[in-house]
Amino acid sequence: MTRAAFSYDFPHRHLISVADLNPVDIRIIFERAAHWLAVNRTPDKSSDVLKGLTVLNLFFEASTRTQGSFEMAGKRLGADVVNFAVAHSSASKGESLSDTARTLAAMRPDIMVVRHSATGAPRFLAERTGLAVVNAGDGMHEHPTQALLDSFTLAQHWGEVGGKRILIVGDILHSRVARSNIGLLNILGAEIRLCAPPTLLPSDVDQWGCDVFHDLDDALQDCDAVMALRQQKERMSGGFVPSAREFFHLFGLTHERLEVCSPDVLVMHPGPMNRGTEIHTKLADDPEKSVILEQVESGVAVRMAVLELIGETIRRDFHSREAGQ
Ligand code: ASP
Repeated sequence: MTRAAFSYDFPHRHLISVADLNPVDIRIIFERAAHWLAVNRTPDKSSDVLKGLTVLNLFFEASTRTQGSFEMAGKRLGADVVNFAVAHSSASKGESLSDTARTLAAMRPDIMVVRHSATGAPRFLAERTGLAVVNAGDGMHEHPTQALLDSFTLAQHWGEVGGKRILIVGDILHSRVARSNIGLLNILGAEIRLCAPPTLLPSDVDQWGCDVFHDLDDALQDCDAVMALRQQKERMSGGFVPSAREFFHLFGLTHERLEVCSPDVLVMHPGPMNRGTEIHTKLADDPEKSVILEQVESGVAVRMAVLELIGETIRRDFHSREAGQ
């Protein structure tokens, strides 16, 4: 299916928060992701929809899958993709984020994919540079393409995510994946459950539109999908749980525990996964239940969809400026 089949102009230049998206935006992203998912399974993956555009991957925090996934997405769409290695950058020599951004913007890339440990860094960079920005994870705040790929993976199984019961278990407090997923699943009309020890839940969790549990066996009742989260030790300044062993005993996902879920329950994890801490290794590898590798595959397709749609906005904005509108 070519893009010309749609009459909807994606209205966004940036993807910084899932809250910026409405249900139609999400539908278009999923339709395009389904297209790219099918293309990615053929030997003819390359396309020229982003030919002429430069995508700059600007990762101030370590990343394996997200950076690789964005790089593959940009390359398969024909963009010039430049990975800006922060370890070798001026940031480590004391340059401010604003100066780094303005310097890079002067090289005239078109889209900046940004990961940063500080909440708000992607929006700040968008305002400072005027470039299109995709948030690839900012601190504990948001990771919108992760949430899109998670819901897209579920939609591939179910058709609709609305009306399904989805549990997120683990370190909710420090998780940008949880925040973006909750925002998106609320827009899509899913029932969201959270389960964590009180130390790993934010104090305002009662305002998040979710049902909160501290007991995993109660939380799992009749769930259609369960997402395990790792403890984000890099964001913890002290001890939040007694030990990995105790955490697994209380909050770890196992086959036995899932017996109270829907028989077709899907098991998810955004990675990186700590086997034996938040999920039993046999469950993680169970081809009947685990969709963890499908999430990774969906990730490339969803990022292709997002980059494609933002690329269209960039070209449309440019042509209307040229036409003096
Ligand atoms: N990869 C995800 C993130 O960047 C989840 C994680 O690191 O645990 O937030």
